[in-house]
Amino acid sequence: MFTLDTQLADIPRARRFLPKLKKLGIETIKELLWHFPARYEDFSHVCAIEELKPNQQATVRGTLVSINVRRAWRRRRMTIIEALVNDETGSINVVWFNQPYLGHTLKSGQIINLSGKVTARDNKLILVSPIYELVGKDDTKHTARIIPIYSETKGLTSKGIRYLIKPLLEDIELIEEIIPEDILRKESIQDINTALRQIHFPDTQEKAAKAKKRFAFEDLLFLQLHNLKQRSALSKQLAPNITIDADYLNKLISNLPFQLTQSQKQTLRDILKDTAKKHPMNRLLQGDVGSGKTIVIALASLAVAKNGLQAALMAPTAILARQHYETFTAFFPQFEGGIGLLTSNEAQMSYGERLTTSLKKEELRQIIAKNKIKIIIGTHALIQKYVNFPKLALIVVDEQHRFGVKQRAALIQSTRTTPHFLSMSATPIPRTLSLTIFGDLDLSLITELPKNRKPIITKVVSPLNREKAYCFIQEQARQGRQIFVICPRITASENNDGELLDARKRMWLEVKNVEEEYKKLSTQIFTDLNVVMLHSKLKPAEKEQVMRKFANGDADILVSTSVVEVGVDVSNATIMMIEGAERFGLAQLYQFRGRVGRGKHQSYCLLFTDSTSPAIERRLVSIVKAKNGLELAEKDLQIRGPGEFLGKSQTGIPDLAMKAIQNPELVRKTREIASEIIKNDPEFKNHPGLKRRLKEFQLYIHRE
Ligand code: ADP
Ligand code: MG
Repeated sequence: MFTLDTQLADIPRARRFLPKLKKLGIETIKELLWHFPARYEDFSHVCAIEELKPNQQATVRGTLVSINVRRAWRRRRMTIIEALVNDETGSINVVWFNQPYLGHTLKSGQIINLSGKVTARDNKLILVSPIYELVGKDDTKHTARIIPIYSETKGLTSKGIRYLIKPLLEDIELIEEIIPEDILRKESIQDINTALRQIHFPDTQEKAAKAKKRFAFEDLLFLQLHNLKQRSALSKQLAPNITIDADYLNKLISNLPFQLTQSQKQTLRDILKDTAKKHPMNRLLQGDVGSGKTIVIALASLAVAKNGLQAALMAPTAILARQHYETFTAFFPQFEGGIGLLTSNEAQMSYGERLTTSLKKEELRQIIAKNKIKIIIGTHALIQKYVNFPKLALIVVDEQHRFGVKQRAALIQSTRTTPHFLSMSATPIPRTLSLTIFGDLDLSLITELPKNRKPIITKVVSPLNREKAYCFIQEQARQGRQIFVICPRITASENNDGELLDARKRMWLEVKNVEEEYKKLSTQIFTDLNVVMLHSKLKPAEKEQVMRKFANGDADILVSTSVVEVGVDVSNATIMMIEGAERFGLAQLYQFRGRVGRGKHQSYCLLFTDSTSPAIERRLVSIVKAKNGLELAEKDLQIRGPGEFLGKSQTGIPDLAMKAIQNPELVRKTREIASEIIKNDPEFKNHPGLKRRLKEFQLYIHRE
């Protein structure tokens, strides 16, 4: 008997697969058995040979009458195996290519199952490269049933995986059920031992679906338990005490060059109310691009500073960090508490109206460590090298969905209290996500844009209208406006995905790239305009310079990759032109569009595509029509699934749970059940299994 923890290295039949399995991250029986099929093929019905029809997927069972190996006449290196198989109703020819070993494995007289596609050739039916299995006493695993198809790696086929898994399912001891019996019964969820067998070798499609549901249910349940635990753990920690100085804040607000929107005021109130509590805030501030989140967090940071405490703001890129720094210093010249900027290549600080000073990063670190700077804005550089924030009270993370937990952990060092935490996002969070992946966060929404914003005119542009669009751009530039041109790729030669199939690779190579577009636009199309380019392979100082030039209005056109996606604020830019628009997700396109329409001029978003596919057309049109980011986000989530929607690296959530997140019913149910469990048994005294699994689950999430 094996247990789930048995190493595959200890199982003789698995030995030759070990290196391949390792590539899939599989080393124990548990990991192998939890490598679930990607899909199934239904060969459960055995057909009579005389009933076979061309192009049908079928399974037949018969006697091997003859088998021959020969070399292809023209292509000498190819071997062809030809066989004849018959049953009571007739016979059929079978061929396999380049599988010479079959000549040794298969012998005439054997009873065999064959599953595959029936092809017509010269008026005869033939089975081409079917999956085969000798029929013995044992249950079949490859044919004459619903067979599992796994995601494969080179040299380890679905067949190999089935060969490994099938006997294991018989040889492992019963697995402990950790979901309480009554819940399983009430929700009619399969027990673990049934589910594990049915997910690999289902008796029927329905049972396969139920098995999948069981694992999805389990993952979601733990995700929910994790969220609720996280919440209750935070509510037991102490946070720095921040008192609100209303007069001070009101004065700051009335000195702004604009009126805050109702939403901005409300979200600021949410935040200040939280930070005034004894326990750490854990909040997500969500608002469409351009809704004015920056000013809200700036005001919150100043409220913190007023208490003699520190606030740290982390942005995803140096460009954005710099922009936040400039916003903070420009809007609050009277703030004397010190604002610092720390990225991997620069350090700056400013005190009120005194000029900004550049200094060595190490010097800035020391000033921060002495609490002589209250607001620190930066990139990952803030946590890459040890920076000591002795009075850290608030952490704000911009546009990095799920990184929060780790960042907070990295920033909280020796302090006895846990800083308040605020995450900011322009990507609307569909409800299913806010109840799962973001389930440990409280939500504040900015639901309106500042007044006087004109709606952005959005158009899908076909290749035929490219000339016209260029004329329009020329005209806008002549009137002093600025233009973004976004391309999906950086260079012509880049190939960052070695796994791309040939056809896809070729298509990818035809997609516009920043370097060539930049050259074309600057030397052929807009020769009298100032064109600059920006992408992630430029040196930080170069990026900085380009961005500054564009932001100052010294460049007319910025050709860029998606690095401008988040946050960049240039209010004189009125055209967002996107090449290969079909290459981007809806939420991403929406973000791009939000880069324009921030000033007083009418703005435009031009979506260029060569695609003629109706599905893509529909997708792009939904952007044109979208007034509201949430609607789009819901759609995007449906189309791409949560993994792509959030960006793979941003979640540590197991695959099935990720898929299950799209099932609102299951999400709601598991949340209900999880709260019930936590309410009745907060320490899992009666649920030791749950407790153990939750630990494992949390380790898994944090490992990512
Ligand atoms: P985002 O939410 O995308 O981060 P920003 O904070 O960058 O948006 O704000 C977008 C622009 O709108 C900035 O130029 C900012 O100064 C301006 N802004 C913010 N709030 C208001 C307001 N209430 N009225 C007018 N303009 C505003
Ligand atoms: Mg922003």
